[in-house]
Amino acid sequence: MKAKRRSHSSLNEFSLIEKYFNHQAISRADVLLGIGDDAALLSAPPTSSLVMTMDTLAAGVHFPLKTPAFDIGYKALAVNLSDLAAMGAEPAWMMLALTMPNAEPNWLKSFSKGLLSLAEPYNLQLIGGDTTKGPLSITIQANGFVPPLLALRRQGAQVGDKIYVSGTLGDAGLGLRVAQGKCQLPQKAKKYVLERLHRPTPRIKLGMLLRGIASSAIDISDGLLADLGHILESSHVGAEIQVKNLPISSVLNQYLSPKAAAMLALTAGDDYELCFTVPPSLENQLLKKLKNAKIICHCIGEIKKKLGIKLLGFSGKLPQHGYQHFS
Ligand code: ADP
Ligand code: MG
Repeated sequence: MKAKRRSHSSLNEFSLIEKYFNHQAISRADVLLGIGDDAALLSAPPTSSLVMTMDTLAAGVHFPLKTPAFDIGYKALAVNLSDLAAMGAEPAWMMLALTMPNAEPNWLKSFSKGLLSLAEPYNLQLIGGDTTKGPLSITIQANGFVPPLLALRRQGAQVGDKIYVSGTLGDAGLGLRVAQGKCQLPQKAKKYVLERLHRPTPRIKLGMLLRGIASSAIDISDGLLADLGHILESSHVGAEIQVKNLPISSVLNQYLSPKAAAMLALTAGDDYELCFTVPPSLENQLLKKLKNAKIICHCIGEIKKKLGIKLLGFSGKLPQHGYQHFS
């Protein structure tokens, strides 16, 4: 759509792409043609399923306006990689649609650094995109591979399966309150929760490890109750959660009451941990693999026949959970 688009005045679109996005160290053999032509040419492995996901971060909606550019670039990719992780996929390629009010060199430099530094360890190649002028918004499409039949889905949880989550929950939720100035913490704790908010770790290694083991999986972007709710709905089952077993970080333990911490762990989004279910017959295999890979996960409950989520050991009213854009 060249005719309708207004290009950047300070730094033209092409030199901008060349300067900030076309210097990746990664050069994959399956990328026949990357950035620079009308489209990319790729050679997908014949024996894998191609996994595709896309997520947008809009300024003021998904991140506070004053978020550092590095963190915006990092998080825009992290949330997409988190979706690949939740499918059990191995990352391969990404495309970037970048809309911004102006081409500010310092901002672009930090943004591309944040984005490309996270791509590096995953051998994820930027193969193209689109650059336009407008209110700041970042869309990334990330692609990966998974052996057919081994993709992790939301459906598949069975009565009796154990429910697990990775890492700790609620940290990013507290980070958001700190970023919004609604809560104050000492410097070290503040740094920890802000990092959990702005630089979530996509659980790629865990997702791949869960192939053939997890009966269902999802990444926690909207809060445990909301996202586990999606697994339950797709699988037509219910769940019991032991609230005392929710993994809470030492920072949350130190600065929040047990109830406030549990509330965040249950309802706050942005942690990008994985929630998954495992049949009891595969639990030993899971625990062995987690130990070998040095990945920490906790069992928080069990899949039940009765629909809905029953919270054991929690009294009090929960806020309506899950962020919805058009409610
Ligand atoms: P066209 O007008 O033919 O669509 P573009 O100017 O949009 O061409 O893009 C030129 C080349 O630069 C294409 O290969 C495109 O994929 C790539 N590209 C554009 N914007 C970005 C971006 N933000 N990041 C990476 N590659 C980009
Ligand atoms: Mg284009």
